[in-house]
Amino acid sequence: MSRFFSKRHKDLTPYVPGEQPRVPVRIKLNTNELPFPPSEAALAYAASHTRPLNLYSDPESVELREELGKLFGFSPEEILLGNGSDELIHFCFLAFCDREHPAVFPDVTYGFYPVSATLNHVPYETIPLREDFTVDPRQYYSVGKTIFLTNPNAPTGIALSLGEIEEIVRHNRENVVVVDEAYVDFGATTALPLVKRYDNVVVLRTFSKSRSLAGGRVGFAIGCRDLIADLNTLRNSQNPYNISSPSTALAIGILKDEEQTLKNCAAIAETRTRTVRALREMGFTVVDSVANFIFVRAPGLGGEAFQLALRQKGILVRHFGDPRIADYNRVTIGTRDQMDDFLAVCAEILEAKK
Ligand SMILES: *Cc1c(COP(=O)(O)O)cnc(C)c1O
Repeated sequence: MSRFFSKRHKDLTPYVPGEQPRVPVRIKLNTNELPFPPSEAALAYAASHTRPLNLYSDPESVELREELGKLFGFSPEEILLGNGSDELIHFCFLAFCDREHPAVFPDVTYGFYPVSATLNHVPYETIPLREDFTVDPRQYYSVGKTIFLTNPNAPTGIALSLGEIEEIVRHNRENVVVVDEAYVDFGATTALPLVKRYDNVVVLRTFSKSRSLAGGRVGFAIGCRDLIADLNTLRNSQNPYNISSPSTALAIGILKDEEQTLKNCAAIAETRTRTVRALREMGFTVVDSVANFIFVRAPGLGGEAFQLALRQKGILVRHFGDPRIADYNRVTIGTRDQMDDFLAVCAEILEAKK
């Protein structure tokens, strides 16, 4: 730290992103990307529809918001684009939280929330998940704080039902509820219908997981006009050209090939089912997941030891240091072939330990 770094940030511990290896590894299952690239049709659309690069990108992302509006049934005024949904999370902390409106989220959830809270000088409280890693919705009733819920939750993969989310929203009409749906397309139910009925809910989505565009950095928020206008005020005060022209064209191309997205998500869900079954047969503890990752505990091996053993064989998975989940690893669901290879390596590791 230099002697010039503002004391304002003395409590800040930055988020540590999962490793992005610079040399190819055998299988990369550590950051929940889709193993499939954007379709040929999406790439072809982008190649012929990217705005000239000497010009700035559209600061209002009009076309992309219209396309999203058509797909999800909202007007463009109810939609805002972010440079990844991480940027939108930051805007939500900036817009809807302060010392009078602290934040609240589960003790085990997306690690970016406490970082964004600290960066924005927002006090926060965490509510422990139940013993089985589920969220107890009642603990969020009338909390008097801005609520952040990842649904399905990460790194557990467990989802709340639409009814449970609605009850949380209904019991918090004086607070904003942010529902982060980064993984919803792999088998959970979206809270988007609530946006039509409640003025205190924001749903966050991303192209990074189910839509093959993690490297493009495109996320979006859907909420009532007033909430979206608030977020847009902050966006325009911080980074008005936050979506690049190539990423915009790619995102539109991907939306125009929605059928491919649905196929990809179905393939991942099927591979998840096979992988979970095989791991349980080998003695692993596997949390029931509706996301594109699974949370697993290897029999007789600590979480860190299992991660290192996989790493020695060229397989990357994600381990979190938090003592409550230290025995577990989060494993992204890859292609069928990748998961067969992963399962074979798991068997080798267990065999070598005997
Ligand atoms: C991956 C992820 C995001 C952010 O993704 P972006 O790449 O910034 O769009 C947001 N929330 C959760 C829970 C995630 O896992």
